[in-house]
Amino acid sequence: MTADDSLSAEDLSFQAEVRAFLDEKFDPELRAQTERQAGVFAEDTVARRWHRALHERGWAAPAWPAEYGGSGWTATQRQIFAIECARVGTPALPSMGITLCGPVIMKYGTDEQKAYFLPRMLSGEHVWAQGYSEPQSGSDLASLQTRAVRDGDDYVVNGSKIWTTNAHNADWIFMLVRTAAEGKPQAGISFLVSPMNAPGITVRPILSTSGEHELNQLFFDNLRIPVANRMGAENEGWTVAKYLLEFERGGGSLGVGLKVGLEKVKTMATQEPSGDEAALLADPDFRRKAALMEIDMITADWTDLYLSSGAGVGESVGGTAASIKKLLASHKSQEVAELAMEVLGLYAAPDQRRALGAYPQEGPIGPPYAITPTTRHINNRASTVYGGSSEVQHNILARLLGL
Ligand SMILES: Cc1cc2nc3c(=O)[nH]c(=O)nc-3n(C[C@H](O)[C@H](O)[C@H](O)COP(=O)(O)OP(=O)(O)OC[C@H]3O[C@@H](n4cnc5c(N)ncnc54)[C@H](O)[C@@H]3O)c2cc1C
Repeated sequence: MTADDSLSAEDLSFQAEVRAFLDEKFDPELRAQTERQAGVFAEDTVARRWHRALHERGWAAPAWPAEYGGSGWTATQRQIFAIECARVGTPALPSMGITLCGPVIMKYGTDEQKAYFLPRMLSGEHVWAQGYSEPQSGSDLASLQTRAVRDGDDYVVNGSKIWTTNAHNADWIFMLVRTAAEGKPQAGISFLVSPMNAPGITVRPILSTSGEHELNQLFFDNLRIPVANRMGAENEGWTVAKYLLEFERGGGSLGVGLKVGLEKVKTMATQEPSGDEAALLADPDFRRKAALMEIDMITADWTDLYLSSGAGVGESVGGTAASIKKLLASHKSQEVAELAMEVLGLYAAPDQRRALGAYPQEGPIGPPYAITPTTRHINNRASTVYGGSSEVQHNILARLLGL
C-alpha cells in the first residue's frame, strides 16, 4: 500500500469504478448542496440521501467486515475510495452509527442485537447520536451522573447529556449511564441504547458560535430502556466506552481530507490578489506557508498509513494511534481553515449564513467560494475539544507511553 498514486492495474480499475459511481450518483444538485455545507456533518436531508446512494451500491461501510455488510475492500481500496470522495467533496456523514457504534455492536452485542441494529445502521434507516458528555462530565467522563436503576426488565434512566451532536435528527442514541455508585467511578458504568422517540427524552437545541444547530442538550425523565438494550455486561460499560473512543479518535482517513482542503485554499489563492495585484498564489510568503503545510499533509498521510497498517477490517487502530491521529487531524485541519480565512481577506468578514445550506435564502457575498470558510473555521475550533480535547489526548499518550 502506498500513500501516493503508484497503483496496481487492479486498483486503477477500482479507482475508475469509484469515479464512475461518483460521476453518476453525486449529481450536480447534491454537489451544489454539499458545497454549501459548513457543519461537521452534512445536513440531515443531504446526509440521508447520500447514505442511501452508498448503501444501494453496497459501499456504506467500507471499514466493516463483509459478513456484516461491509464492502470487503482491501486497505488500498478503502484509501482510494476515501481519496476519491474527498476529491469531489461528498457529504460528511454522521459517524456515530457506522463508524462508532457499529464496531461496538460487533464486538460486544448479542446475536439478537447484531441482527437488529447492524442492517438498519448500514441502510441508514437508523441515524445515531452519542450520549457520553454531561454538563459536569466531559474530560473526566467517568464522573458521569446519569442514573439507570433496574426495574424488572427495564432500566429507569434519569439525568442529562450535553453537546449531543445531531440528536435532533437521530433515531437512536447510545449512552453511558451509572448503574452503581460504589467503588471506582469507572466500575459503575453501563452502555445502553435507546430509540430517540422513547417517552422521557427531551431534546433542547444548542446553537453554535457559528449560529448553526448541530448540538443539543438531552434530558432523561424516567426514560425506560429494556435491559436487552445493554451492550456488554452491567457495570462494565467503561471498557465498551473506551473501545468506541478508539474509533472516534482513530477511525477516519487522516491526510486525505486535509490535502484536498489545502488544494481548495490554493485554488482560492489563484483568484484572490496579493498586495501588488498579482494572484496571492504567487506571493512568496503564502507559497512558503502552503508548502510547509503540504509537507505536514504528506507526513500526516504516511503516519496514518503506518498507524493504520496493523489494524484489520473492522478493527480499531489502538489507543496510542487513535490519540496521535486525533491530535494530527484536528490541529492540521484548523491550520488549513485559518489559511482559508487569510486568503479570503475581507470576504471572510461578511455573515454568509443566508447563503449556506442545502436550501439557501440568498446568494453569496463575494465569490461563491467565500460562503463556507468562515463558518467552517468557527465550527472547526471545536475539533480540538470534541472526541476528547488535545490536552486529554496528550495525557493519554503520556500515560500509554509511560512518560
Ligand atoms: C462541537 C462539539 C460536539 C460534541 N459532540 C458530542 C457528542 O455528540 N456526544 C458527546 O457525548 N459529547 C460531545 N461533545 C462533548 C466533548 O466530548 C466534550 O466537550 C469534551 O470531552 C470536553 O469536555 P468539556 O466540554 O466538559 O470540557 P472540560 O472537561 O471541562 O475541559 C475544559 C478544558 O480543560 C482542559 N482539561 C480538562 N481536564 C484536563 C486535564 N486532566 N489535563 C489537562 N487539561 C484538562 C480541557 O482540555 C479543556 O481545555 C462535543 C463537543 C463539541 C465542542
